[in-house]
Amino acid sequence: MKDIYLQGVGLTSQRARERLVCTLRQMGIDQPAILETIVRIPRHCFVDDAISHRAYDNVALPIASQQTISQPYIVAYMTQLLLARKQAPRVLEIGTGSGYQAAILAQFYDEVYSVERIRKLWKDAQKKLYTLGLHNIHLRHDDGHHGWLDAAPFDAVIVTAMTQKVPPKLIQQVIDGGQIVIPVQEGTQQNIHQLICRQGAIIQRNVLEAVSFVPLLAGKQID
Ligand code: SAH
Repeated sequence: MKDIYLQGVGLTSQRARERLVCTLRQMGIDQPAILETIVRIPRHCFVDDAISHRAYDNVALPIASQQTISQPYIVAYMTQLLLARKQAPRVLEIGTGSGYQAAILAQFYDEVYSVERIRKLWKDAQKKLYTLGLHNIHLRHDDGHHGWLDAAPFDAVIVTAMTQKVPPKLIQQVIDGGQIVIPVQEGTQQNIHQLICRQGAIIQRNVLEAVSFVPLLAGKQID
């Protein structure tokens, strides 16, 4: 884990953070570095003040533009999947949202690239992550279906919005033996899929935890 200094952030709600970590441990998150990061990253800075008292509950919460910040368990679970196979120092996230998942990844990767289609969320996340001093996160306002070609290839891609079909450009932007962790909807069921990729093709698919993400939409939203 990196020792990144978070500007101007003390350990507000320390007890609530520790309670959350206890819950995550009981749910099967067993990597101490991930649990430490969940304690360290101030989730209350990624939600509106009006609901910040719920920031360390193990629940998804609303953010601007009718989107959500993911449940801490799912953030920790997806991070654990990524780190178990980590080979290279760059990761790509599709669906920046609040910026919280990117902040967690920034503790483990040298460079985090994250794409968000809603301009307001992209701008808000940029401000927040800059204020926290997380300078190894690069944000782009774009449709994540394109990935981030100039920065590819990535160790892994994590998609934090649900899709029915894995965007082909993402498969092409992962290193050999790298992975895509993505919520996939099949019928009424939505599950995390872990896709192992080689030379632009999926060579293995593991269907894992049931989840409930907002959809991966096409195109950029300007306001
Ligand atoms: N990772 C976020 C939560 C993601 S919510 C967090 O830590 O807070 C899903 C996000 O995906 C939303 O912000 C939504 O606007 C975004 N999204 C949906 N379709 C997208 C697309 N095609 N490209 C980029 N972002 C997209």
